[in-house]
Amino acid sequence: MLILPEAMIASLVSPEDAFRAVTDCFVAMARDEAHNFPVVREALGGGRQYGFKSGLDRTGAMLGVKAGGYFPGNAAKGLINHQSSVFLFDPETGRPQAMVGGNLLTALRTAAASAISIDRLANPDARVLGIVGAGHQAGFQLSAAARVRRFERVIAWNLHPEMLPKLGAVAAELGLPFEAVDLPRLREADVIITITSSPAASLMAAHVSSGTHLACMGTDTKGKQEVDPALVAAARVFTDEVAQSISIGETQHAIAAGTLDASAITPLGDVLIGRDPGRRSIDEITLFDGTGVGLQDLAVAAVAVALARKRGVGVDVNV
Ligand code: NAD
Repeated sequence: MLILPEAMIASLVSPEDAFRAVTDCFVAMARDEAHNFPVVREALGGGRQYGFKSGLDRTGAMLGVKAGGYFPGNAAKGLINHQSSVFLFDPETGRPQAMVGGNLLTALRTAAASAISIDRLANPDARVLGIVGAGHQAGFQLSAAARVRRFERVIAWNLHPEMLPKLGAVAAELGLPFEAVDLPRLREADVIITITSSPAASLMAAHVSSGTHLACMGTDTKGKQEVDPALVAAARVFTDEVAQSISIGETQHAIAAGTLDASAITPLGDVLIGRDPGRRSIDEITLFDGTGVGLQDLAVAAVAVALARKRGVGVDVNV
């Protein structure tokens, strides 16, 4: 079994690798060659959450699980609040193959999913990127989005405005002008990424112009919510996996309110394989509900393992 500690991941997996791996994963899901197992998520008390995301991808011969969660006291200890590890197993024998640090991989695979949705669903001439959120994931989201459209500027809102300068620094690194704005000014954006841990909607229908693509990435648990359910109901909705979207994703609220039917939600993989046309007009609002599936985690972990084996790095142990 190969052990790849967290510190090794940055030198192994690039955002481009993650984009390719997550694209392949969504394609395999659309072709019914890969499926996610039901998510387990439990509250540990004190705001801590722990859970498992797992699945089997027959095309890539990947079987495994990501174990991890949210530990809100970590930031004060100089640690990232989200902590996870990915375990890969041989799908034929069940023997363990690898244990891979999952923190950076989670950020890369989440940003990749969002970028794939922008690449496929945003209007081609999108110029203004809006971001709601400025936590750990936000910078990864911004960088990945900038790879798929020629944005000219970035506008952002965060409930805690003191967090915005860090996101502004990421924009500056990319050479993009950055401005902190109030929510109504997000109407200037052609693409909006939401990436918060909010329990109630911040982005309302009045804050979004026609033709905008929304990548809603923060809601990955029951009870979280970033977007006005009226906006969700008015948009053409895409997701990584419909079952996760309606149970733990952003659409859970519109589904519960009866304003959206699960049959109206399209897996992004269907767009990737040409089964669905994606955006149908420059004026419609498209919304990608990125809930984060276990197969994404296995896909990027498998890339890390393949590259590590090629370069002869990592810790090999007999188990
Ligand atoms: P973080 O803790 O670093 O940042 C949290 C963000 O949410 C900050 O911008 C904060 O200001 C904002 N926020 C907190 N409370 C809020 C409230 N009441 N209203 C509005 N905004 C609020 O978290 P992170 O690592 O950046 O992750 C952000 C979210 O993305 C989390 O909910 C996380 O679970 C989720 N996430 C989703 C995926 C996926 O695949 N979809 C993957 C990783 C993380």
